[in-house]
Amino acid sequence: MGAQQVKTTPSQRLQRIGAYLFADLDRRQEELRARGVDVINLGVGDPDLPTPPHIVEALTRAVHDPRTHRYPPYLGTREFREAVAEWFAGRFGVSLDPQQQVLALIGSKEGLAHLPWALLNPGEVALVPDPGYPVYRSATIMAEGEPYPVPLRPERGFLPALDEIPAEILSRARLLFLNYPNNPTGAVATVEFFAQVVAFAQRWGLVVVHDNAYSEITYDGYVAPSILQVDGAADCAIELHSLSKTYNMTGWRVGFAVGNRAAVDALGTVKTNVDSGVFTAVQAAAVAALRGPQDSVARTLAIYRARRDRVVAALRRVGWSPPTPKGTLYIWMPTPDGQSAAAFCAEVLERTGVVITPGAGYGAFGEGYVRLSLTTPDARLDEALDRITRAYA
Ligand code: PLP
Repeated sequence: MGAQQVKTTPSQRLQRIGAYLFADLDRRQEELRARGVDVINLGVGDPDLPTPPHIVEALTRAVHDPRTHRYPPYLGTREFREAVAEWFAGRFGVSLDPQQQVLALIGSKEGLAHLPWALLNPGEVALVPDPGYPVYRSATIMAEGEPYPVPLRPERGFLPALDEIPAEILSRARLLFLNYPNNPTGAVATVEFFAQVVAFAQRWGLVVVHDNAYSEITYDGYVAPSILQVDGAADCAIELHSLSKTYNMTGWRVGFAVGNRAAVDALGTVKTNVDSGVFTAVQAAAVAALRGPQDSVARTLAIYRARRDRVVAALRRVGWSPPTPKGTLYIWMPTPDGQSAAAFCAEVLERTGVVITPGAGYGAFGEGYVRLSLTTPDARLDEALDRITRAYA
């Protein structure tokens, strides 16, 4: 009997996720580097600043305790969940039951990726913002759900056009993903907006998944709310938070989900079947971050705000039109003269060696926009701005 061909073709669900939209840009970058060009990447949103020392020290202490070397409690240590509940009450004035409404995550991305498995049946719809963080769509597809893009348009301040979603789609929908402060648009939302979302979700029986990964990355006196501040939100909403951007901890992989008990419980059940939780020493460090002094956050924000202002000023000087975002690490700018996002990014890369990201990579409604990130060290960022000024002024 002849041997069969080994079936290494990616699964149909993986194929449905489709090509990585930044692949072409990555290839061009590599070509330029091979030609000796000093490429500056303003594409990725990964803080260049270090984790504050008191958090690093808490990890070091914890890692010397052999009790942290064993499997962590699946849903998070009691201390971690209590620290989250305390931080949440102090920050948003919302009280949470640490045992039933708080769940430790291996970064908020992990929770977002697993939520459709927890709550979506095959064929059911998840409403995903477009443009949006790509995981909402890909996680829905992995769970064999149907992502339905909800446009975020500039004339609505990049809030979702919920009233445009057809009733037929809403009747099959179960999840509504939202994210404010928003990646990639930099838009922010008010509690009044969240109150409308909660009413909408209750009307259609939806679970709102609010990704609040940038809750602390805000400027000019704007303070981002939690959707859980809205009366009745805990009946329909789960909110995901992250320590990644607040405390420069992207590599540590720690975040948390809070809110609706049934949704938190279902997500926890997925996690007990998939992973074994966040390293206990990392949870101890996260407790130090949440309970410790917060002055490092203010210092980090002052650096981002200064970068934001320099980027916006430089881009305006060459005649482009970036808005000044009140939140996140990103400048979301329309391409000059309505060029396609990919063509404009390719041209900027070719002329300056600076990588910026085409908005179409975040969904069809991101076409005509590009995203620049503020997470590059000051000297390199200024070098990038000089090159853009020389090439385009
Ligand atoms: N949500 C949004 C909107 C993001 O931009 C990111 C990361 O860039 C994440 C979630 C994931 O963050 P983490 O998994 O590090 O908590």
